[in-house]
Amino acid sequence: MVKIGVLALQGAVREHVNCLEAPNTEIVIVKKVEQLHDLDGVVLPGGESTTMRRLIDLYGFYEPLKEFAAAGKPMFGTCAGAILMAGQIEGQDEGHLAVMDMKVQRNAFGRQRESFETDLHVAGVGEDIRAVFIRAPLILEVGENVQVLSKYGDEIVAARQGNFLACSFHPELTDDHRFHQFFVSIVEEAKQ
Ligand code: GLN
Repeated sequence: MVKIGVLALQGAVREHVNCLEAPNTEIVIVKKVEQLHDLDGVVLPGGESTTMRRLIDLYGFYEPLKEFAAAGKPMFGTCAGAILMAGQIEGQDEGHLAVMDMKVQRNAFGRQRESFETDLHVAGVGEDIRAVFIRAPLILEVGENVQVLSKYGDEIVAARQGNFLACSFHPELTDDHRFHQFFVSIVEEAKQ
């Protein structure tokens, strides 16, 4: 049995819950810091990263989330969630939670391509993974401990560092649950 939380300060929460559903998996909508304590993994949804950071600080989630990551517990950030996890953000002095050795660029797709969908190969997850991009960030660079999981053209759009997973797009907005189920398997392995 694993327990996975979805941080519910802003953004799509219910969609993530649906994608995470699996046998022997309890899913928790996280609104209070205390709920983090007995989780085996956490999802940071999309939304607006600056707003999410403000709410993280306001509700006292900053240190507990850092500790969660420092304990090596799995974390999965989609879109704004990936920005929160990045060590560096283009044009900013500091990252937010900064738990992954990678640099991101916010809103990296031009106006005409603000939102689009495509199918991607994601290493370890599968072929033709439906990916919805909404004012998405790009992963500009990754450190040597970071595995590139997926590219859109030449651009990195999904990466993994140990138990940490990040993607530029929104796998939760599709019926394809494979990316989330991959995260569930990471959580299960980490718990053993
Ligand atoms: N552009 C948003 C940000 O910078 C992310 C968009 C999203 O999560 N869909 O935080």
